[in-house]
Parts: sequence; C-alpha cells; structure tokens
Amino acid sequence: MKLLIPGPVTTRPEVRAAMAQDLAPWDNDFRPMYASVRERVRAHAGGAADSHVCLVLQGCGHFATEAAVRTFIPAGGRILIPMLGAYADRMARLAREAGRVVVELPVNQLVPLDPALVAAALAADPTLSHVGVVYSETGSGVIHDAAAIGAVVHAAGRRMILDAVSAFGALPFDVSARPELDALVFTSNKCFEGMPGLGFAVGRIDRLLECQGNAGSWSFDFADVYAQTARSGPGSFRFTPPAQVLAAFEVALDIYDAEGGQPARLARYMANRNALYDGVVALSLQPCLARAVQGPIVMNVHAPDDPAWNLQAFVDALKARGYLISNFYNTPQPSFRVGLIGAITPDDMRGFVAAIDQVLPEIGVRHRGPARQAA
Ligand SMILES: *Cc1c(COP(=O)(O)O)cnc(C)c1O
Repeated sequence: MKLLIPGPVTTRPEVRAAMAQDLAPWDNDFRPMYASVRERVRAHAGGAADSHVCLVLQGCGHFATEAAVRTFIPAGGRILIPMLGAYADRMARLAREAGRVVVELPVNQLVPLDPALVAAALAADPTLSHVGVVYSETGSGVIHDAAAIGAVVHAAGRRMILDAVSAFGALPFDVSARPELDALVFTSNKCFEGMPGLGFAVGRIDRLLECQGNAGSWSFDFADVYAQTARSGPGSFRFTPPAQVLAAFEVALDIYDAEGGQPARLARYMANRNALYDGVVALSLQPCLARAVQGPIVMNVHAPDDPAWNLQAFVDALKARGYLISNFYNTPQPSFRVGLIGAITPDDMRGFVAAIDQVLPEIGVRHRGPARQAA
C-alpha cells in the first residue's frame, strides 16, 4: 500500500525493519545512537554545536509545537499568528489553551504570505513578542517564505516559532542565518520518512537558558529537555522514549544522506508534484491551487461536479488498487487531498493517476470538472 497522505508517510522497508528489536533506552549502546541522531539533525538544520541544539520530545508534531510555544513565550505573552490555514489554526488553539495571547492576522490562504503584512502587524502592536508561522501549510499546500518572514521579524526585534513539520527535510532552512528563530519544529514521520512518534525542535542554547521556567508544564518544556541534556548528557531522555522509532529514524537519516539530503529530497517531491499536477489536469480534473503556488508537499484537487461523486467510495476504490488518500475534506469546497511526500516517486504518481482514471467511471462519475472555479 502506498500512503499518499501528508503524514505518516510511506516508509522504506529498511526503516520499518529497524523497529523489530527490543531496546533499553538507558543502555550504553542506545545513548550514543540517540546523541548522534541529535547531532546529525542539528547539522541538517545548519546549527553549530556551540550555539544550537536539537531537542527531542516523545509524540507528535502538535506536542512539539505546544512545547515550543510554552517554552519560548512566557504565560500571558503575545504571539502574532498569520492565519494561513488549518495548521495555523491549530497553533493558535495550542497557544490559547496554554494561556498565551494569540493575535490573529487574517490573510489570503491561497498565496504565499507577504512578509510586509507581518511587518505592519508588528509595527502596529509593540506588545507582540513572537510570530508563529507555518512553513508548508498542509491545509492549503502553499509554501510560505520562512526566511523572508523571519527577516521582517528580526528587523522588528521580535522572535519566531516555525512549524516546519511538513517542510523540514525537504524545504531548505538554515537556523544559523535566522537569529530571530526560537524553534524550528518538525517530526520523524514527514519529509525525513521515518516512523511517527518523535517531535523535534532545533533551537538556540542561549534562548533555552533564558526560558527556563516559562513552560508551566513539565512534559511540554523544551528548556527542561535541554536542562536534562546539560545534566545527564545528550544521550539521555527524561521519560521513556519510543526507542524503536528512534532506531528507525537513524536508518531513515542514513537513507536521507545517501539520497543526497535536502536538495535531492526536494527534487524528488517536486517531481512528484509535477507528475501529479500534469496527470490530474490531463484527466480533466482541476487542482485547487494555481501551478505557480502549488507546493511539493500536499495537493488538493477539486472534486468532480457529478452527483455520483462520493469521497469515501473514491478512497475505497483507490485503496483496492494500492493507493491510500485522506477520506475527509480539507478545503471549504469538496476536494481530495494527495500527499506528495514519503518514499514515493513520480512513477508512483503516474500509477496513481492511472488508477484515478479507472476508478472514476467505476464509482459512476462522468463529469470531472469542479463545481466552481478556484479563486
Ligand atoms: C502534520 C503536521 C503537524 C503535526 O501533526 P501531528 O499529527 O501532531 O504530528 C503540524 N504542522 C503541520 C504543518 C503538519 O503538516
């Protein structure tokens, strides 16, 4: 089965096989493995050992985003969140429920965010200490220019938290070039193509030291994760980790490096994007985004305007052919969503397009155009 969803993604057999062992996380064989994974991830993010650190939290991306918000913004502190889509909404909810004040910046979700809007919002409200940005908005499929937005945050003397969960590993990001960045947040199971279960942040050591005691939560505190590193070494976890997921992640990193790292991964995902975009257009289906703004992570395609259209029937028929896509709507108008990431290739995309062509008549869909034109 190919998982064509934006996480957890299709993985390679070698990655899954690394899970098939018993591991003791406090054992002296495991600790150096964990420490080396952290160093490798920090290096991929462009961080130097004396300024930056890779911190790992058990669990999903939401946990890591919540921990970043709690750690770097004091209780009652104020964060500007450009409302880019579903994941910006989620960051806002995590921050609010953690007792931070969210100021929402409404934006056009179908195009990359204009950094000038962020600059203006920050200039208008000096009480905002942070900006929370989603690099690749999984709701829309649009990629936002994290470095350019960071530059205006830096110019305004504020700080940034970047949800790069569906971006990092494929889209470039260099933490050393972005002094305003408090946390680059991502997980094991998206563009690094590992198993789900680990949340990561790469952040600055000086900021982690300044932010001890902010979190108001022992579990969701990256400053405490850092304190543990300082106390007990970089191979130690505070609480029981998903040790097998970490072993699988190490193999996934080896594959990532062997493939050619970030540029190679981005090139493969772009090729997946192009194969799918061309393929669905050739079938008379219409992607929700214009080609120029369609990112290489996830693509929404307008549902055909035919009374026979039924998303679950479509998903089930595709699944019978070996392709699994999301079975819920992610856009205001009906669409189906396809992940472009994971251990999949343009040939997989072409096979998937051929399967769509067979499945639509099978479920009785004759008219393939969208109900309404995209904005
Ligand atoms: C997947 C994703 C997350 C985290 O999702 P979890 O289910 O908590 O792992 C966060 N942000 C974005 C943009 C994502 O795509």
